[in-house]
Amino acid sequence: STPAPVTLIGLGPMGQAMVRTLLAAGHPVTVWNRTPARADALVAEGAVLATTAAQAVAASDLVLLSLTDYAAMHDVLDAATEVLRGRTVVNLGSGTPGETRTAARWADEHGATLVTGGVMTPPPGVGGADAYVYYSGPEAAFRAHETTLALLGAPRYLGDDPGLAQLLYQAQLDVFLTALSGVAHAAALAQAAGVAPTNFVPEALRTLVETPAMIAGDGPPGAEFETGVHPGHLSTATMMGATAAHVLGASEELGVDDVLPRAVLSHYERTLAAGHGRDGWTAIFEVVKARTP
Ligand code: NDP
Repeated sequence: STPAPVTLIGLGPMGQAMVRTLLAAGHPVTVWNRTPARADALVAEGAVLATTAAQAVAASDLVLLSLTDYAAMHDVLDAATEVLRGRTVVNLGSGTPGETRTAARWADEHGATLVTGGVMTPPPGVGGADAYVYYSGPEAAFRAHETTLALLGAPRYLGDDPGLAQLLYQAQLDVFLTALSGVAHAAALAQAAGVAPTNFVPEALRTLVETPAMIAGDGPPGAEFETGVHPGHLSTATMMGATAAHVLGASEELGVDDVLPRAVLSHYERTLAAGHGRDGWTAIFEVVKARTP
């Protein structure tokens, strides 16, 4: 069958990569962007630039949004509500679970169906073998467009709740952003001690590479979080907590930012106070799973 028309609104690096992937698969693609010049190269490659957001929405049953946040969705679509009826809007932009649920009700009020997505690859990975995308929202709407969406990355459908796709995206970004801050902080410590980041960071990367095995433990990965059993036969929360205190002490001695090491130390201090000193590091889960009192 002929590839169906697709509309894509939001031509940042991610939106542009998606348009190229859809064009390469033969889909007619209509685009719109607040800053129209960002469409120039795509138009040369075969995309059609709509004059207004409403025109773009009216061009396809499937409307993809690649915008910074859910406020941007309203800035763009509040002027296009009269053409939303019957369409499936797949919002691939970032938002809290609560914002996505509110947006789903808003779409519903205008006769449209909102499917939410969280894209687990940077722009160059879009359409590649390693790319995957979390989706949630009404299943029938997702299934109707699954083949097209699969072009962007392997779809992981999570269920009806529109909040789930972004929640898992945020959980993944929690891992990612914390690791990035850890590397930046560690490089600052090394530099403050006179070791060039280009000497230190390659070895920090080795630590990152060895981290998955440490997290997996005796496996399956995540088992300790699920069972609440935290074997400490290789390293204890007491030892890790003492080390966390030394990372903070080093930061203070060298005049480097101390916010991140303070947060880490706080996890261990509370874990020890709760009586988990002889357990493994996974016991910090018992304190991080609830909000700080
Ligand atoms: P950008 O911030 O570069 O692009 C954002 C797009 O949103 C632009 O088209 C911009 O328009 C538009 N926009 C922002 N605010 C408004 C507004 N108030 N009204 C109208 N349009 C607005 O982001 P990316 O392309 O990098 O990312 C898009 C989404 O994809 C984000 O939600 C991001 O979290 C997600 N994502 C990005 C990844 C990445 O590595 N880049 C990876 C995974 C997900 P204009 O051009 O006029 O500024």
